[in-house]
Amino acid sequence: MTNVLEVRNVETFYGPIMALRGVSIDVPKGQIVTILGANGAGKTTLMKTVSGALDPEKGTVTFLGDRTDGSEPDQMVKKGMAHVPEGREVFPFLTVEENLRLGAYTRRDKEIDADIEMCFGYFPILKERRGQIAGTLSGGQQQMLAIGRGLLARPQLMLLDEPSLGLSPLLVQEIFEIIKRLNKEQGVTMLLVEQNAQVALNTADFGYVLEIGRIVMAGEASKLLASEDIQEFYLGGG
Ligand code: ATP
Repeated sequence: MTNVLEVRNVETFYGPIMALRGVSIDVPKGQIVTILGANGAGKTTLMKTVSGALDPEKGTVTFLGDRTDGSEPDQMVKKGMAHVPEGREVFPFLTVEENLRLGAYTRRDKEIDADIEMCFGYFPILKERRGQIAGTLSGGQQQMLAIGRGLLARPQLMLLDEPSLGLSPLLVQEIFEIIKRLNKEQGVTMLLVEQNAQVALNTADFGYVLEIGRIVMAGEASKLLASEDIQEFYLGGG
């Protein structure tokens, strides 16, 4: 199985603060891999290190067979990585459709209209609201739009940073169902960061647990779901 993404012994700092302390992960082609961890564990830092927003001090990031640590975020997008950041970050003063078209800004092909329709197939509410100003959408709809915008880049790898944040349980279920379908039907490999371990492990193939900048556990999602440590610390059981 080929890896779309390989992260090796990455150390990332904010000034003197070491946020990642030698992190290594693999994301195999076609899979959904999740990174679990509490607030401040370093999940967002890992995503930003992968997407080029932060440069690691040490270690390597390899995307589609090429070293990419030190690359700029826009180069990563061109190369096929879409980052759906935490907190949605849609363009609030643009319409739904304008936001989606911006997702395709690196593309030169003529299939963008068809891909917008494909995106509307997964998110029918966005079709209904294609002319609406994005800032006036609900939180769940903005999350859908952020994922849709990522999709318009036709990514090989989609980075999803806490898609469940601030959403009702029902909406979380709905969005994760769609994430699963995009993976299966469109073949998008996903790296998913989540605090909601239950839904993340139910969706993913493989998971890592990050604690204070280190990977402390790794395994198939179904095995992690059954693990006592995960039950106790991340699923509120025990
Ligand atoms: P959350 O779920 O709250 O986003 P996280 O797991 O994504 O948490 P990070 O945001 O990656 O965690 O933060 C990892 C560590 O780095 C934390 O100790 C945090 O305080 C620190 N940190 C994050 N951003 C900065 C920054 N800009 N400057 C200094 N320290 C930072």
